[in-house]
Amino acid sequence: MADPVSVSNDANSAILPTYARADVAFERGEGAWLTATDGSRWLDFGAGIAVAGLGHSHPHVVKALIDQGQQLWHVSNLYKIPQAEKLAKRLTEATFADYVFFTNSGAEALEGAIKTARKYQFVSGHPERVEIITFDNAFHGRTLATIAAGGNDKYVEGFAAPVEGFHRKVKFGDIEAVKAAINERTAAILVEPIQGEGGIRVPPASFLRDLRALCDAHGLLLVLDEVQSGMGRTGKLFAYMNSGIEPDVMAVAKGIGCGFPLGAFLTTREAGKGMTLGTHGTTYGGNPLATAVGNAVLDVMLAPGFLDQVGKTGLVLKQKLAALKDEHPRIIAGIRGEGLMLGLKIDDAIPVGDFTNAVRAQHMLVIPAAENVARLLPPLTIGDAEMSEALTRLDAACKSLEAKLSLEAKLPAAKLPVDRSL
Ligand SMILES: *Cc1c(COP(=O)(O)O)cnc(C)c1O
Repeated sequence: MADPVSVSNDANSAILPTYARADVAFERGEGAWLTATDGSRWLDFGAGIAVAGLGHSHPHVVKALIDQGQQLWHVSNLYKIPQAEKLAKRLTEATFADYVFFTNSGAEALEGAIKTARKYQFVSGHPERVEIITFDNAFHGRTLATIAAGGNDKYVEGFAAPVEGFHRKVKFGDIEAVKAAINERTAAILVEPIQGEGGIRVPPASFLRDLRALCDAHGLLLVLDEVQSGMGRTGKLFAYMNSGIEPDVMAVAKGIGCGFPLGAFLTTREAGKGMTLGTHGTTYGGNPLATAVGNAVLDVMLAPGFLDQVGKTGLVLKQKLAALKDEHPRIIAGIRGEGLMLGLKIDDAIPVGDFTNAVRAQHMLVIPAAENVARLLPPLTIGDAEMSEALTRLDAACKSLEAKLSLEAKLPAAKLPVDRSL
């Protein structure tokens, strides 16, 4: 357990080397546990980046996949798909939305949401309204439009002029800055209720309400990116439900398929009024296999008590992490987040990659984010056993880093490789 796992680009790999991959492969999963090819057991507090919300190999979801797999995998959206009809109806009944469009990923859901917002303005007699206000540190995906919408200049560089209409990027949580950015060309505001990749940044409590009011006053659409914060993560089905307001359009993915590639954008009837026959499409989106799995995920998440339990577990975990921080003030500078979307702000003297490596040496997975934050995004199904196991391993990782710090005080610095696997 003691060896740090190396992070390397395997020169023999035929996979395009855009990720620094840890030198470990998993072959089996159950709940919050993964088994690697060498037989070692790992505690997964990343859940494939907030994807495996019900943990690995949840029996109800596996059964839905197998049953549907034996019947029919795919038909085109040129035909009726009962599984998709059912999932869309359930999502609209559980949210603000009147319509759902299924996609294969988060970025594709965001693309559809952006198109919906622009088309709404276009058919409302405002073809000039094409600009979308977004935020620093935002992450919306890796397509050309979503990198333009995001807050990371590195993701845009070298890919030609960014897609038009996303140059108004303002400080996350700063309502005055948003006000100042609105003009006669503004179509919508696109925002994550809690930023994920951006470092589990929680905005002021009034922020979404204030954005809603600004949108209403100026005829703009409020578009939420709940790809990471949604599907139960914060103890509500969607994070906006903690705020007392409703969006016009919302993008969803990650947890909705629990690992099966599935996403969606949701819209009110009014905001979606431009998305008429022939205006948008997808080949795979919402096929029988994907939406059968999506229905099984909802069966579990909407069962009485499930989401309340997520909220309770999140509070307990946050308290335990606060105690861990008090034990290790040189390593952990703060705790962030809501529900089971939590972040450890690592002291700026220690690169977060050193921390995630030290945790990985304890056979536990956490995910680095911006602002030197390590994300804890465990399966929503974890209980006391997994929490105390996690705390034991995080404590050991902190101790190993403290030992290294006191060594470094005596010896010249030797750095662990930084994990940049975002
Ligand atoms: C992961 C993520 C996306 C992109 O989803 P993909 O499935 O990787 O395309 C978009 N927005 C947020 C907030 C995300 O966390």
